[in-house]
Amino acid sequence: MAAADKPHPPPQPAYHATPGSILHADRGFYDGISRAERVPIFSFTLPVRSGRAWKVPSGHIVRISTPEGPQVGDLNIWNLDNPRERFWAARTRQLHASHVSTYDRLWSCLPYLRPMVTIIDDSLSDYGVDRYGGRCHDLLGTRCDPYVNTMLTGDSYDFHCHSNLTRAVIPYGLTEFDVHDVLNVFQVTGLNADGKYFMEASPAKKGDYIEFFAEQSLLMALSTCPGGDLSTWGWGEGGAGEEGEKKSMLDCCRPLKVDVFSLADQSVLEGWTRIEPPTYRGRHGMTIPEGEIRDTSNAR
Ligand SMILES: [Zn+2]
Repeated sequence: MAAADKPHPPPQPAYHATPGSILHADRGFYDGISRAERVPIFSFTLPVRSGRAWKVPSGHIVRISTPEGPQVGDLNIWNLDNPRERFWAARTRQLHASHVSTYDRLWSCLPYLRPMVTIIDDSLSDYGVDRYGGRCHDLLGTRCDPYVNTMLTGDSYDFHCHSNLTRAVIPYGLTEFDVHDVLNVFQVTGLNADGKYFMEASPAKKGDYIEFFAEQSLLMALSTCPGGDLSTWGWGEGGAGEEGEKKSMLDCCRPLKVDVFSLADQSVLEGWTRIEPPTYRGRHGMTIPEGEIRDTSNAR
């Protein structure tokens, strides 16, 4: 019997946390924030195939919604005061799951590794796992980009999510190199039996939403994916619809709405503190000289 065939208990999640760890959001606390009275600060509607960035003060709520029906959005997040600290999709996937929902947190990259936001509500949290193994709010994939498109098809297109996010951050002093792996909101994806990444049409309906509580002051950026609701996804312009009928991909594109709120009564935040990075103070095993090492044996 091959080792792989030997029965063994199912593998457990790789990352465990001690009770009270910041890995797990205090549900009662975040439910209190979710239900508390809000004051609208600003909002905007992001048109199809475009990108925009916006600032969010810590302790505020960000709501991303689908005002006209299904549409996928690609989300990036930075620490407003230090854009080297930015969302780390891969570690978030390991700490929580391949797809995120209420009470999951979006974590920052090394050497910061702390929650940037906590998800406090998700109208699609009941989506669960569909018959193909797909789940909603994807961390498996990343943004569409013009480089892979050109590599695979030779076509050139300037309004992929990577490009939309790049244009969005330029007014904030950031560049293409600051754009990073995304959370794909309202996007259903999975891995098939061969381990291949697949995407399905977005299940979002008019008025669906996901809400984030800002654990730090943030710069966020969102792209309305040129694939729209992904119901006709294919490389290049347009794609094959049901039964061969040609449907333009642009017909599947809809706007997304962003709302930022403050809390009317700050007392619901009692006990909430800014989470500091882990206290590792090692030097990765290195011994680093402080300066020039001089041979003083012949000193006069
Ligand atoms: Zn995209």
